[in-house]
Formats: sequence, structure tokens, C-alpha cells
Amino acid sequence: MAKKEINIFFDTFAPVFKLSFMLRSHTCGELTLDKLNTEVTLCGWVQRSRDLGGMTFIDLRDRYGITQLVFNMEDDSELCSRARELGREFVIQVRGRVVERSNKNPKLPTGDIEIKATALEVLNTSKVPPFIIEDETDGGEDLRAKYRYLDLRRNVIRKNLLTRHRLAAETRKYLDKQHFVEVETPVLIKSTPEGARDFVVPSRMNPGEFYALPQSPQTFKQLLMVSGMDRYYQIVKCFRDEDLRADRQPEFTQIDCEMSFVSREDILETFEGLIAHLFREIWGKEIGPMPLLPYSEAMRKYGNDKPDTRFGMTFVELKGPTAEKDLTAGKGFRIFDEAGLVAGICVEGAAGYTRKQLDELTAWVKRPQIGASGMVYARYNTDGTIKSSVDKFYDENDLKQWAAAFGAREGDLLLILAGEPSKTRKALSELRLEMGNRQGLRPMDTFQALWVVDFPLLEWDEESARWHAMHHPFTSPVPEDLPLLDSDPGRVRANAYDMVINGNEVGGGSIRIHNKELQQKMFKVLGFSPEEAQAQFGFLMDAFEFGAPPHGGIAFGFDRLCAIFSGLDSIRDVIAFPKNNSGRDVMIDSPSVISAEQLHELGISISSKS
Ligand code: ASP
Repeated sequence: MAKKEINIFFDTFAPVFKLSFMLRSHTCGELTLDKLNTEVTLCGWVQRSRDLGGMTFIDLRDRYGITQLVFNMEDDSELCSRARELGREFVIQVRGRVVERSNKNPKLPTGDIEIKATALEVLNTSKVPPFIIEDETDGGEDLRAKYRYLDLRRNVIRKNLLTRHRLAAETRKYLDKQHFVEVETPVLIKSTPEGARDFVVPSRMNPGEFYALPQSPQTFKQLLMVSGMDRYYQIVKCFRDEDLRADRQPEFTQIDCEMSFVSREDILETFEGLIAHLFREIWGKEIGPMPLLPYSEAMRKYGNDKPDTRFGMTFVELKGPTAEKDLTAGKGFRIFDEAGLVAGICVEGAAGYTRKQLDELTAWVKRPQIGASGMVYARYNTDGTIKSSVDKFYDENDLKQWAAAFGAREGDLLLILAGEPSKTRKALSELRLEMGNRQGLRPMDTFQALWVVDFPLLEWDEESARWHAMHHPFTSPVPEDLPLLDSDPGRVRANAYDMVINGNEVGGGSIRIHNKELQQKMFKVLGFSPEEAQAQFGFLMDAFEFGAPPHGGIAFGFDRLCAIFSGLDSIRDVIAFPKNNSGRDVMIDSPSVISAEQLHELGISISSKS
């Protein structure tokens, strides 16, 4: 049992296979007692060496694991002396015999044996590595990024790449079975004004003109549907030149999919199937049916369109659009009286929170990132009394009414925020997640997935004073809301869906518009002139005139999925060569300036760095 647990740090996905190469007979992860007395040849890196007088022990590491080598002075003093000379990370080839270890290591699958060495070849030397290449390392983030290839030798990092590989392989297996065809779409495309900022690439052959790198293959996959491909997918790099917020990468990977002649339900079923397949194959877990949660309900109950539904603490309004009646009015508490929304959460069994803890929590919600102006709490004590931070205004009777509205029981704690509704919901959502963390309700190995549906099609942008597509401009409206597109665009719901797992939006997509007139109308609502729409997306609208089938699709954020399956918060460690928070690759030192000659050739006359 213990062996199995430890084994996840190595490559458990590669079953022991027969090597057909000349340099080694076995890997460093496979030899056990059943191979006693076998003559073997191993290759790998010197992880550690210990010199115990007459004996030298070396841990030899490769992708598959670690095997202990033993060199004995009495058996062969010349060989043993050479072994003593080996430095960390030297690459060696060793021949020897599998023998039983007297001092077994139950933490390693190979821990019952060691190799009594009879020959040693140094295949390459190594400088002393800048940090320790073990699960616990002394290397800081910058140093490890600079020497990423060494960091990737560490099992804890490498196993993430192996998980990533398994996820990609299983995704392909599943989609292939469902008759999806993997089609590559171009990487040098055309810049469009919608969405995030594009990365652009100057065209030497067309001076003054630029390609753009795709933010997603959206229009191409739709064109593939027009071409009759029926089911498309691609595990594809996408590029967005956004200001780098924490845990964003300028290039990232999507599992991008599109299907023809399908309803929303067909798509949800197909991709629920994909995710269930991945959970089964990678984690050996079943992930239950995914409920549909309308966007409006998600916002009302969780203040968030990607709620973590592993735990309750749903919002209760004491005053607000869904409150049965205002339970706060008439008591002279100005903050509640002036608020558009007074809402809170009930934290089960947390009435024991001390004054100090509650003050600290109040300071936490008042931080600018959360933005609440304060927090009211009420402890429903186990002796049946209720004490709040607003006792001056609300008596025990009032508080009992609050407790009833929350469905609170003795021992519970109510945390209440108030203010402008959307800001308050946002802050309460953060508080809910924080309390989920503090109460241990968000374990890494428990998963709950759902679909959020019925998003608004459009959102109003104050700055540009125009409607923006909440998803993208190719998303079709829910059919019965079509008439509202002219009269009340803000109320039109999109035929779109997001898959959410544990509070992460892992994928999103929509049923598309497949008709030129409706697409033109959509661009008009979004503030495009007919000429602008034609210049940017004429190719797509023209294609719709040649028998475009009804179609829809979805894209999953592959890096995020990998992080979830690896039990990590950050996507950085599931990417082989990630960029840092400033969008730099510090290993290859990119981006970098280019020569005046190169600039000249590209017809670019600005100085590249000021
Ligand atoms: N292309 C969309 C995106 O990248 C996903 C989709 O609608 O399929 O968000």
C-alpha cells in the first residue's frame, strides 16, 4: 500500500516495458526481488552518493524511479574509487547484479533491492547543479525557472507533465471514439478587435502588414463545420496579450471542439462524458451527473458565475430582491437602511469564533481586493442565545428572525455584508470561499462539476458606452429571447454554457449563430458598422451563405484541467516551459530585442526598446 502511494512521484503511467536498446537493460524504477541475481545494466543520473568507508552507495535516478547501487571496496577497489569520484547529476551507465538489500526502503518501489556494481561508465559529467534536485529543493522560483530543465528532473514537477500527457492522450482517445477529427488550424491569422489584445507578427513579404496569433481557433472551427467536417477537435495553443494577472500565461492550451447538427444538450452530454472519462482514467473516480445552474441563480446564491459547489453557505438576503421581507428596516441602523442588499452566509458550527478571529475576518473583507465596507456577525450560541455585533440596533427577537431566515442552528455563525448589490455579492462570494477554506470544506481531492447556463448574451461596458458580447459575437441568443435583441438587448440570454469544477471555469462554449442576417445583426448591436463587420468577419458571414449547418462547440482550458488533476492551484507547474508573471521566459531570455537589420527587413522603423 505504502509503495503505491509513494509511486505517484514516479512515472506510474509507464508500465514496466521491455527496453530494446543497447545502453540499458532495465529502467531505474522497475527492479524488485523477483529479479534477484539478474545481471542488469542501468543508465541514469547520480542523485546522491554516500560513502561509508568500505562501501559507496549511489541513488541512480531516471524518469521511472530510483535504484540504489552499491560499490564495495573489497570486491573491486578501483571501481569503488571511481564511484567515489562521481558528482551529483553525473550521467552514468552501470552494470551489476540485483541483490537483496539488508536495509530496505519501503518508500521506494525498488526499495527491497540494490545493484551490486561490476562495471561503471561515465556517460557525461555535470557541473554542481544550482539547486538540489529532489522533491524538497533549496532553489527559489527564479533560479528554478532559469534552469527549468533541471527543475523538470525533479519528480514532483515531472509527474505533472506525465499527468498532462495522460490527459491529452485520454482526451484524444475519447474524442476519437466519438468520431471527432483532429484538424490543425493556422497560427498566423488576422487581427480582430473583439476579445483580448492580439499578439501580432510582422509580415516581411507584406511590409507594414501583420498577422495575429489566434486567441482561439473560433472562426476556423466554425468554417470546418461549414465544410462538413461534422466533429472537430484540436489540442491547441492560443495566445492572448492580456495584462498578466496572477496565474495567466500569454500562451496557453485549449481542448477546442465543435459539432454540427447538435442541440445544447447533445454538447453538454458529450463533454460531460469527456470529463467523466478523464476522471475515471486518471483518478479512478466517478464524477456524478453535472447539474445545470442558471447564471442568475449562480449570482444570487453564490455571487459568482463559477461557484464552488462542494459546500453550502449559499447567500441569504435579509434585505434585497429575493428577501421575503426586509428583516433589517426600522431599527435605525444606517448602514443597512442605506444598503441595496443585506446578505450573508451561515457558517455551520463556527459560533466559537473568537472576537479576535472575527475582527481579523472583518479586516480581511475590508481589504481593497475584497472591497467590503465592514462586516456584521451574529453568533448563535450553543446555549440558544444570539449575540451580534449590532446588538445596539437589533434585539434577540430580531436576531432570531435572521437566524430563521438563514436556517441557522445553535452553534452556527452568521456573517453579513451590506451595500451596493453587485459589489456586495462579489465581496460575499470571496468571504464564502475564504470560510470554505478555513472550515476545510474545499479539499483538493474532492470534485464537483456543474454547468452554468443562460448567461446574458451582452454586457454593457461603461467605458466604451456600448454592448460587449459576454462570450463572443458568434454565440447565438436563446431562441425565445430573439425578439428582445432590438427592444431590450441586456435581457437576451445566450445559448452558452460554462463547465465549472470546484470553483474553476474549466470550459465554455455555445450554440453558434449560423445565419448571415443574424450574425450581421449581432455585429450591429455590438456597435460595428456594416463595413467594419464585413472587413473583419466577412469571410465567416459569406461562408454562412453556402449552407452552414447549425453548430455549436466548447473549449476547455487544458492547463487549468491539468492543474486540477495534479492537485495544484497554479497552472505554471503543469507547463513544461512557462513564462513568469511579467510574461518573460527567463531561461531563454525572451522577449528580446532584435537587430536593426531584422527590423529594417520587416519594414519596422521604431526603436524596439526605449
Ligand atoms: N472559442 C471560445 C473561447 O476560447 C470557446 C468556444 O466558444 O468554443 O472561449
